Amino acid sequence: ADDSPTALKVTSSVLLKRGYKVYMVTDGEQAVRETQRLQPSAVVVDLKMPKKDGYQVCAELKSDKEHYYPILLLTAREDIESLVQGLESGADDYIIKPFNEMEFIARVRVMLRLKHLNDDLLAANKKLKYLSDHDELTSLYNHRYFVTSLEKIMRSSASSKTNVCLSIFDVDFFKKVNDSYGHLEGDKVLKTMAQHLSDSFTEDCIIARYGGEEFTAIFPDRSLEFAVKATQQVIEDCHKISFKCQNTEYKVTMSAGVCSTDVLQSYKPGDLIQETDKLLYQSKKNGRNRVTYCGSSLIK
Ligand code: GH3
Ligand code: MG
Ligand code: MG
Repeated sequence: ADDSPTALKVTSSVLLKRGYKVYMVTDGEQAVRETQRLQPSAVVVDLKMPKKDGYQVCAELKSDKEHYYPILLLTAREDIESLVQGLESGADDYIIKPFNEMEFIARVRVMLRLKHLNDDLLAANKKLKYLSDHDELTSLYNHRYFVTSLEKIMRSSASSKTNVCLSIFDVDFFKKVNDSYGHLEGDKVLKTMAQHLSDSFTEDCIIARYGGEEFTAIFPDRSLEFAVKATQQVIEDCHKISFKCQNTEYKVTMSAGVCSTDVLQSYKPGDLIQETDKLLYQSKKNGRNRVTYCGSSLIK
């Protein structure tokens, strides 16, 4: 980015000669816009430009936390103050015009190195974030993510006085699957159950593996009736899934408990989990393959 066509020609020809793809703009506003659109590997900006100067361009591009744009500042000024200001605004390096061609290319290559390092770092952070939030076996959210989400959702629901429902599922006699067909087959069942839950609930519902063969679903801003019906459907549809191992076909059932904040009269996540757990226990005690919910008289 440079407002002088002559300077732009000189800079770009040095880069083009070496096989770099170059995109040229003549003011700061275009520099920001086109950088965001084209996602270049490095940005070379002149300090003095119309609409937005180099400092503004640096500051705006560096405020983007999703992308990293290494910036090489071009300046005709040698005064330390403007160079310092440029670096403070977010430039990664600078070069004084007129520059030596070899030095310019060397500095551009430093920018490209920075770009690769930062892209690797961003990708690694993304992967780490995914791993810290998800369960490895089922790819559902994990226990930690579930607890944090429930706390967040219940805090905001408490202030807006909206209802939150929670379902906890537990696979029935799951130990028998492991004992009869082995743990790998057990893992397959868990993965299938996780997929079944994901396929069955609406997008706003947060589904997690609570641990072992237990799963949870948070229904933010949904009525108890909605959560109960959705949970019952999941339990019923388990019958449609059949597993095959060692030439034997078998089916798996689940039990569940459902509770809501309006019936519970509490916005404490611990209370909601504990109460839902008790309801799940009731389902187990009453024969499994069923749903038990709070305030049963409220739903026809
Ligand atoms: P109930 O109907 O009362 O829930 O009986 P259950 O057999 O399902 O419950 P129990 O708690 O006795 O057994 C759960 C089993 O789940 C025990 C444990 O080895 C197994 N399990 C936990 N996590 C995993 C896993 O990731 N993979 C496999 N294959 N098994 C697991
Ligand atoms: Mg269990
Ligand atoms: Mg179980």
